[in-house]
Amino acid sequence: MSEQKGVIFNIQRYSIDDGPGIRTIVFLKGCPLRCLWCCNPESQNLKPEISHNSNLCVKCGRCAMRCPNKAITMTENGPVINREICVSCGTCTEECYPQAIKLIGEEKTVSEIYRIVKKDEMFYRASGGGLTVSGGEPLMQVDFVEELFRLCRADRIPTAVETCGMVPRSSFEKILPLTDLFLYDIKQMDDEKHRKLTAVSNRQILSNLSWLVRHGANVLVRLPLIPGLNDSDEDMKAVAEYVQSLGLKRVELMPYHDYGSGKYSQLDREYELSELKRHEEQRVVDIHNIFENMGIKCDYIK
Ligand code: SF4
Ligand code: SF4
Repeated sequence: MSEQKGVIFNIQRYSIDDGPGIRTIVFLKGCPLRCLWCCNPESQNLKPEISHNSNLCVKCGRCAMRCPNKAITMTENGPVINREICVSCGTCTEECYPQAIKLIGEEKTVSEIYRIVKKDEMFYRASGGGLTVSGGEPLMQVDFVEELFRLCRADRIPTAVETCGMVPRSSFEKILPLTDLFLYDIKQMDDEKHRKLTAVSNRQILSNLSWLVRHGANVLVRLPLIPGLNDSDEDMKAVAEYVQSLGLKRVELMPYHDYGSGKYSQLDREYELSELKRHEEQRVVDIHNIFENMGIKCDYIK
């Protein structure tokens, strides 16, 4: 067992997305990208942070009274959190009965998480499932993932990593021997557009992807499709050609949704794509056909 610690913000059991079979998904905090469409904004900051849901808040003021740092001021619209002085201690959440104020992210040891993962071992065996680590970018906490995967390997529980690829090569070197599947996002092939959409260059991401493929990793490329931002015919053909050049035969499309948009205000942030509409079904079919016509099998996930 391992005392290595990581910051986790969610665990989802019995998932049928994010890898084959029935899976447990462990969500780790921290991401080097700032994708405009991110549906898990609470994952981006590596440290635990406070969220406040004004729809649940009854404006009782208990959170402000409990905060030892005086980081919360009560106003007629409810509590206002000064995030500059909040130290994410979580004291303010202790007497919030409607659970309007929450601490997102908690330090856990590998052993604690593995005990949860192992509970569903029999479902993994029956369905071909296993553990997927996600985020955020789980490899920002690569030592935690490495330890967790070692325990899985010892018990022959299959492992998958959902990654944006923007981590040092050494992180992939560490986990490659312990990983059965890499779910690897490509958001945009054009570097300048990639920077505008995600705040980082795609060079390291593409270089890591090609390294993984060259070193025999099992990789499934996934594409978040964001209407008008990365889904033109030209964008799709550029991805398809790159995937072909790597010798990969399959991709997954992830059409845009705005399920995470409500979380931004809970973190005192703004969702920049609030005007964006989802794709017409035909557009997703057309994109699907671009890949299939180039000999790449193409599936959707919701
Ligand atoms: S304790 Fe909860 S319900 Fe009361 S003001 Fe604070 S956030 Fe709102
Ligand atoms: S997390 Fe701690 S410091 Fe931050 S607002 Fe709550 S009680 Fe105050």
